[in-house]
Amino acid sequence: MTTRTTCPYCGVGCGVLATPGADGVAIKSDPAHPANLGRLCTKGSALGETVGLEGRLLTPRIGGQEANWDQAIAAVATAFSDAIRDHGPDSVAIYGSGQLLTEDYYVANKFMKGFVGSANIDTNSRLCMASTVAGHKRAFGSDTVPGTYEDLEEADLVVLVGSNLAWCHPVLFQRLKAAKAARPGMKVINVDPRHTATSDLADLHLSLAPGSDVALFNGLLAEIEVKGAIDAAYVANHVDGLPDALINARSDARSICEVTELSTEDMRAFYDLWTSTERVVTVFSQGVNQSTSGVDKVNAIINCHLATGRIGRPGMGPFSVTGQPNAMGGREAGGLSNMLACHLALENQRHRDAVQAHWNAPEMASQPGLKAIDLFRACAEGRIKALWIMSTNPAVSMPDADAVREAIRATSFVAVSDILPDTDTAKLADVQLPAAGWGEKSGTVTNSDRTISRQRAFQPIPGEARPDWRIVSDVATAMGWGAAFAYDTPAEIFREHAALSGVAAALGGDFDISGLADISDVGYENMKPTRWPITGGQTGGRFFADGGFFTPSGRARVVAATPRPLAAETTPDRPFRLNTGRIRDHWHTMTRTARSARLNRHIAEPLVEMNPRDAQRLGLAAADLAEVASERGRAVLRVLTTDRVRPGEVFAPMHWTGRYASAGRIGAVTGSAVDPISGQPELKGSVCSVKPFAARWFGFAVGGGEPPSRFAADYWALAPIADGWRAELAATTSPVDVSDFALRLFGVGDIVTVGDDARQAHRVAVVDKGEVKGALFASPQPVGVDRVAAVSAFEKKLSPHKVLAGARSNDLPDAGRIVCDCFAVGENTILAELERGEVATLATLSDRLSAGAGCGSCRPELEHMIDLSAKRGGGRIAAE
Ligand code: SF4
Repeated sequence: MTTRTTCPYCGVGCGVLATPGADGVAIKSDPAHPANLGRLCTKGSALGETVGLEGRLLTPRIGGQEANWDQAIAAVATAFSDAIRDHGPDSVAIYGSGQLLTEDYYVANKFMKGFVGSANIDTNSRLCMASTVAGHKRAFGSDTVPGTYEDLEEADLVVLVGSNLAWCHPVLFQRLKAAKAARPGMKVINVDPRHTATSDLADLHLSLAPGSDVALFNGLLAEIEVKGAIDAAYVANHVDGLPDALINARSDARSICEVTELSTEDMRAFYDLWTSTERVVTVFSQGVNQSTSGVDKVNAIINCHLATGRIGRPGMGPFSVTGQPNAMGGREAGGLSNMLACHLALENQRHRDAVQAHWNAPEMASQPGLKAIDLFRACAEGRIKALWIMSTNPAVSMPDADAVREAIRATSFVAVSDILPDTDTAKLADVQLPAAGWGEKSGTVTNSDRTISRQRAFQPIPGEARPDWRIVSDVATAMGWGAAFAYDTPAEIFREHAALSGVAAALGGDFDISGLADISDVGYENMKPTRWPITGGQTGGRFFADGGFFTPSGRARVVAATPRPLAAETTPDRPFRLNTGRIRDHWHTMTRTARSARLNRHIAEPLVEMNPRDAQRLGLAAADLAEVASERGRAVLRVLTTDRVRPGEVFAPMHWTGRYASAGRIGAVTGSAVDPISGQPELKGSVCSVKPFAARWFGFAVGGGEPPSRFAADYWALAPIADGWRAELAATTSPVDVSDFALRLFGVGDIVTVGDDARQAHRVAVVDKGEVKGALFASPQPVGVDRVAAVSAFEKKLSPHKVLAGARSNDLPDAGRIVCDCFAVGENTILAELERGEVATLATLSDRLSAGAGCGSCRPELEHMIDLSAKRGGGRIAAE
């Protein structure tokens, strides 16, 4: 039976059709879902490969020992009750996740803010969207996304600021790309220090200095005035604060160019196009939010739309794309420590009274709780006595992650609800609570354009796992609040949430889904994706075309924003600016995506992108290892030299954890300076040193079954393959005996070796009953074996010599790094096809190799390769 559900990864919120069968779960895109209209990216397409039960936490554990639910619930309830009794409600905290469903969020928020009586409930959305929430509230009086996805298609100009949409929101990128192809007059501008796959679509890429967005958009606001583009009627009727903001924004072009490091020509081109284009959408994401000026950046962007009245009409408006699948739902349920449910205000007595009455709550929190950075600081200082972490991995994802790990370790009592027992964070828990995962739990999520979709279960909840809303309800019941948490189904919770939104709307709020307050169980089960507001008289639509802002005056506020430098300054010891972010085929801390061999073929190892000039100066070559460090911690990463990053800047992905790499946690290096309003950390503006990692020995291993629990190497990075694993290895000293090293990796067996004494390189296979158990390629230099060929030969159970042959085998094409996951087309295969000089378009390439004919996530990269090939006359191009 096929189940309609929603992808659990990014904030695009694509509809998915899941069909369990004898061979696993088949995944297809849902052509009827308005977010994706039949599209899926690589991550969504591979969801079926991530729902297995290997390694799952299936029973509660206390102190590492299996326990029953009564014991586990009692342990959490007792720890929370004791702390509240002895130290007050603010001595306990919950740290949640944008992975939680709205119903989970609603119950957790009600538990903390209405019954514990503390607002110490924050989530990893603090790392993602908090600056947008604060910017929206300053400008609109509410956390309202004014527009819709269709606006990106209907615009004549789309400006993407701090957003690698091609990799982080691939289906929305595909929609934009298709719209541009259908209407070539449409223009795209990409504002990002780094040249990304998204930049390849852009007519203009503004590689501005990190953190200089406020100066750029202040300059635009001033230019809007100069060009006479202010919509005087809209401003007169609906907007306050513009005169002061204009005075603040006026600045000469030279100083803007100085701050942004853009050329006058590029800056002029941007300003001319923006001011002269009525239908303009400015899309922004983590490059804007993850900043100590994040809120000001958001307002600097919104200011330009308010001044021109380009908001809330088709093809116009500021548009925030959220990182997580339910960051929006979390905001709607009040899941951050400085907000109340349904976009109501914690500091407003009337709002608190209304929520208290709705919940019949004994003890409402009356002031904001701790934001994420402060929350873990309070843990380190012993002020939090009982901490409950749900569905997230802060020991990896938080900045200053080593200190956060120690803070969790230092907390007297820690409970972790998760699907896995051995994440970097779960390993620190006193009590582990097995949570239901995607495909097993049921509820709703809200995507970036306010569309509420159902996540539906299509397989039974395994073992003793429970949905998060039930675990929280069970703890609340054990603490004596059972009557308010007597939920049997998520539909009951949703109805209560929807009814509260009606109360909030009556108090002047934007979030109103009261039209669903009486939805039946059957209606909830069959609920179609619907954009809010959903009232008796209205469904969906845009906000603010005719004003109607949610401020006390009903008028929007233009906020004068002053450019500020990044918090951390480079020094001779730490001369590099560190940018962090996502890569195409991984999600957050890899809890799910690391299970898919397919998703690990694109990039199988933590890396650092570095400009070739910097690399050369430091004596680093492509594929060397580098140590990236700050005063807080270090990471060891594979060097990728590319002019996509500016000299003096480096980029590292956020995904790798202690489970998959010896030192891949880039959060250990990043600083914890935050925006003073939103509390969002500046994850894209830390400073660091980079130096060669002094490896004298490198290895590449491929083996079957479970990987070893530890590697006898200073550096390792692990990734799954079909029925096995692969690992990159390096050490500061060579193993005395490579064969012995291989035996310890793969277990006993016969040894087959191929040596290259001149290069001191060794290839060793361990063989048992004629079958290769594992192969090790070792060398004093980075190992030059073709990984795809070696893995492919191993997976096909070819002979030891064919496995060890790697790229030199005649039986195996040297496909190179896999670019197209859907059809497993490697970089070298593509380059060879381009070399023939007969491929000028992606369509031709897809016809010949199928590359790019699947989910489309690789198309930007393929087009970049085709472009480079064309520039070089169709000859062979260097891979970038
Ligand atoms: Fe999932 Fe990809 Fe859609 Fe994001 S774009 S929701 S990751 S399928």
